[in-house]
Amino acid sequence: MRPYIAEPEFDVVIVGSGIAGALVAHRLAMAKKKVLILEAGGVAPESLDRLTMAHNFFTSPSKSPDSPFCGEDILPVDPKFDPNARPPKYRFVQPDPVANGENYYFYDDSDPTKKSDRFKSFYERLVGGSTWHWQGIYIRMLPSDFKMKTHFQFGSDWQVVDWPISYDDIEPWYVKAEYEMGVAGSDHENEHYYKRLFHAYRSKRYPMPALVPSYLDKQVAAAIDGEALKDFPLHPLKVNTVPHAINSQNYDGRPPCDGHTSCVPLCPTKARYEAIVHIEKAIQAGAVLRSQSVVTQLELDDEKKHVKRVKYRHWNGEEDWTSGRIVVLAANGIENPRILLYSAAANSSDAVGRYLMDHPIKQSYALARKPLFPFRGPQTTSDIAAFRDGSFRKHFAGFKTSIKNDGWSSVSAKITAPRGASIPAPVPGNPNANGTLLDFVENRGLFGTNLRKTLHDHATCQITLNSACEQLPWPDNRVTLAKNNPDAFGIPRPQINYKVYDEKNYVTKCFEVIVALHGLVFDRLGIPKEDQFLQKEPNFYGGSGHIMGTTVMGNDPKKSVVNKDCQAHDHPNLFILGSSVFPTSSTANPTSTIAALALRAAETINRKLRA
Ligand SMILES: Cc1cc2nc3c(=O)[nH]c(=O)nc-3n(C[C@H](O)[C@H](O)[C@H](O)COP(=O)(O)OP(=O)(O)OC[C@H]3O[C@@H](n4cnc5c(N)ncnc54)[C@H](O)[C@@H]3O)c2cc1C
Repeated sequence: MRPYIAEPEFDVVIVGSGIAGALVAHRLAMAKKKVLILEAGGVAPESLDRLTMAHNFFTSPSKSPDSPFCGEDILPVDPKFDPNARPPKYRFVQPDPVANGENYYFYDDSDPTKKSDRFKSFYERLVGGSTWHWQGIYIRMLPSDFKMKTHFQFGSDWQVVDWPISYDDIEPWYVKAEYEMGVAGSDHENEHYYKRLFHAYRSKRYPMPALVPSYLDKQVAAAIDGEALKDFPLHPLKVNTVPHAINSQNYDGRPPCDGHTSCVPLCPTKARYEAIVHIEKAIQAGAVLRSQSVVTQLELDDEKKHVKRVKYRHWNGEEDWTSGRIVVLAANGIENPRILLYSAAANSSDAVGRYLMDHPIKQSYALARKPLFPFRGPQTTSDIAAFRDGSFRKHFAGFKTSIKNDGWSSVSAKITAPRGASIPAPVPGNPNANGTLLDFVENRGLFGTNLRKTLHDHATCQITLNSACEQLPWPDNRVTLAKNNPDAFGIPRPQINYKVYDEKNYVTKCFEVIVALHGLVFDRLGIPKEDQFLQKEPNFYGGSGHIMGTTVMGNDPKKSVVNKDCQAHDHPNLFILGSSVFPTSSTANPTSTIAALALRAAETINRKLRA
């Protein structure tokens, strides 16, 4: 490694090139600051040929959110992100198996009484981060989400806090982010539903009109609008369109969505916003990108006050370091705490790694009696938001319900009907075989016209409801270091301790209401009980890919890691971005709030650098 030099090499060193890092890099590079982005993953050959990537995914037997789509081709390692630079021998694996939670997160199961639940949300280790495989749903938090303690008067044993900022504080930044990325949404619905029910006003119109609801959405709306669950007459059901960071018309040089229902893991046309958009713009404005550079440690000065150097290791094993007047950690809710814990930094509160949250999911699926024609549009175009807020949140979690346009293909990694996920064919009689092509061929012996007709009749009637609920911040749900289990770079893997069902049954009770709601929707669609698959078993929960908590924001340095500007309480030249700063999770998908906070932090950083 090079010897230390005192003068910082960059104005700002940003760790992580997901949306949080990309937006800050772009803003500061545009302000003529000297910006370096260090990214652990490689550069997807996106600008080389997106259709090849789509082809790789469509022809791969693996059809999960983490399915590979870059093939086994190589990757440019060129730090300047020259798309024509194709050094021959870098085998590119996407996603990097290192970042696949199944074999990456470590759980200490040695004491069966303390066994952790599995944390089912992962991230993408790539330039551009997890927006490579996000759905693009772009929903703001509600005003009450920022003031959970005040609104719902949780006692001190609940660990629930207010955010140090309010909806009013963040609203202008929501707007800026929406225009930066391109968001399609309905102003009418916002005015007549979200503002009226939840006080979620907008100070500016959406940049684009909402994506068109699918035929399936309209059938569900006709069946349930105005209905209510038996014990919840104050929460009438209503189907609304979902705002998306997906173009509904040409925007920022990208085309409108033409409805492939394959947003996860890959938008074949780039209609969906991806952070790579702002990485490319940042580089054009002068930022430097070093990909395949895994940050291992933030080295503090002797007083433990400032971050002096950022150490990283290249995929080829070489170690190096760099330095910046400001360091921005934007490596997500798993890696932000891991880097901080390994560096013994920013943790005078002992809060680093704690309050890990997700939006646990309950899915139910059914086979309608008449075709609903799924498999058109983005994966979700409408949802039911009646349970996002209300006094019930004192007792059980708020949730929202997505109406899925992708049939049963995302029901569980085992089903993924009609394509099927498993080879060889599913075992006859096993419900996981249900509705898959392999089931029809192997188990039912169908072929030719019969097979085509059965497949068509089945696939056009598939419907899935996907409800994701908020989770409260519990200190024992946490990321620590698996000291005896290093990754390929010699750094301890993240050890996860996580319970989806807390002692207060906040999620458990919510799941009961969700299952009742799913049943009601299926009933109103006239689907007989035997064709409704309600996932009642408590073990059946999914992850949303929303990794929140772990470096939470607050006014009190004894209880939180960053202040309301995302600046570390302990180190004035360290900013931490991403959903790791969320003190509570709300029911909103996190990326709109990540983006708003990132733009807000960029302005603070710029001000500090100027001063
Ligand atoms: C399947 C799926 C669907 C989703 N759909 C939605 C949705 O519809 N709406 C929504 O709001 N959210 C959605 N999300 C969540 C969304 O993708 C994330 O909230 C968002 O992308 C996080 O952005 P980020 O920049 O904070 O982190 P990331 O995108 O994770 O970026 C962090 C970057 O840091 C890099 N990094 C990590 N460690 C290091 C290190 N040591 N050194 C250098 N670099 C490092 C990583 O490789 C990564 O590129 C979804 C997630 C998944 C998994």
